Amino acid sequence: PDNNRAVNFGAGPSALPLSVLQKASTNILNFQNTGIGITELSHRSKEFTGLLADLEARIRKQLDVPPTHKIIFTQGGGTGQFSAVVYNLLARHRLLYPELGDDERRLEYVLTGSWSKRAMEEAKRLCASPRGVGGNARVVVDARAFSKDGKSFDNIPPHAEYQFSPYTAASLVHLRTRPPPPALIYYCENETVDGVQFSDDLESPQSFPFGLLFPPDSDNEERGGHRPLLPLVGDYSSSFMSRPIPRLADHAVIFAGAQKNLGPAGLTIVIVRQDCLVDADAAAKLGAAPIPLTFAYKTIADSNSVYNTPSVFAIYVAELVMKNIEREGGLARYEQVNRRKKQKLYGIVEEGEEAGVLRRKVQEGSESWMNVVFEVLGKDGLASKEAEQRFIDGASQKGMLGLKGHRSVGGIRASIYNAITEDNVESLVVYTTEFIQAEKD
Ligand code: PLP
Repeated sequence: PDNNRAVNFGAGPSALPLSVLQKASTNILNFQNTGIGITELSHRSKEFTGLLADLEARIRKQLDVPPTHKIIFTQGGGTGQFSAVVYNLLARHRLLYPELGDDERRLEYVLTGSWSKRAMEEAKRLCASPRGVGGNARVVVDARAFSKDGKSFDNIPPHAEYQFSPYTAASLVHLRTRPPPPALIYYCENETVDGVQFSDDLESPQSFPFGLLFPPDSDNEERGGHRPLLPLVGDYSSSFMSRPIPRLADHAVIFAGAQKNLGPAGLTIVIVRQDCLVDADAAAKLGAAPIPLTFAYKTIADSNSVYNTPSVFAIYVAELVMKNIEREGGLARYEQVNRRKKQKLYGIVEEGEEAGVLRRKVQEGSESWMNVVFEVLGKDGLASKEAEQRFIDGASQKGMLGLKGHRSVGGIRASIYNAITEDNVESLVVYTTEFIQAEKD
């Protein structure tokens, strides 16, 4: 390990590149010879304004974000966005379809793991009371129904199982045609706790079923080639900047906390399509719930993400990380490297499985590239807390930390975000090989 640093396989906040941490540590004392440390720098200073613009430009370039979408920076994490998307997209729906009843303002959730479940529960909570936000949150598909044990999130369901409400695409042109589109369609691209992820290959049955949401191209031609502006929301917290985002332009909102691949906790990135930057007060006059200002996308966008004091330090580090990504060949290269990393790791889990020592938790085709989850088996062939502790302790002695699974599901979780190198993964593979051998003997 460099500088006596361990290799951090934790799920987040997670490892950052050493060169970034070294640079940040000197700039904490004196940022670019201003005489002021980065954590003390005014968010109205020209230095910070430059940093923020640079961060935005680099994210835009790497993810190929089109001009139809704004990139905004805020706080409150992924959890803050569970609430913010509900408020903002219900306000948008209210402005588009003022005549509808609350029941017709559908918020459609795809459940593939703990985080999408939490987001759905928050939507239900916000909708619930008579003084709620005025929407109807429902589940489109629950992956647990397709699991091996009937209760775990271990898969991405096949496309035929998604029960999106039918809508008339033409209603986007002729606003009064029914049924109208939902207010929000929600999915979590990578489930950090459960280790399942949508495939980025859109032909795969485990990819997000965009095709079911959008009308056939012939309908688009009738409408002058315009695709409907659907309110599709993706939580990319734990896969942001690990590989390109398929069909990014078709999303209304993509959000991510920075603390996996991009920087320290405290910074939340939101990519918002312009039609979702709605006037909260105009919507409130029509009966929508007023949006707390720090959640209102339009307020944040109109002020270039400095409506109130942003997380200056986290933004600074994220900008360093983005520069590092570009220096190392950009997202296209990260995609290749991350693919090799996960193949290596799943490869050794498979060997462990054949040896009767390890057991994968996720069904084939749904494996996360970022969070590799498995169990360690005892002599009886069942998952064993003692055997798992042996695995964790042995790894820890070799300077590899953060391998314990999430407290809600147990097992082992190796998070292999961008800052984990191929060499780091190789060390884990070598250790795991030795562990399998020792357990077998
Ligand atoms: N969504 C996903 C996929 C996550 O992994 C997390 C946190 O790990 C969250 C949302 C919640 O993010 P935060 O802790 O930033 O609120």
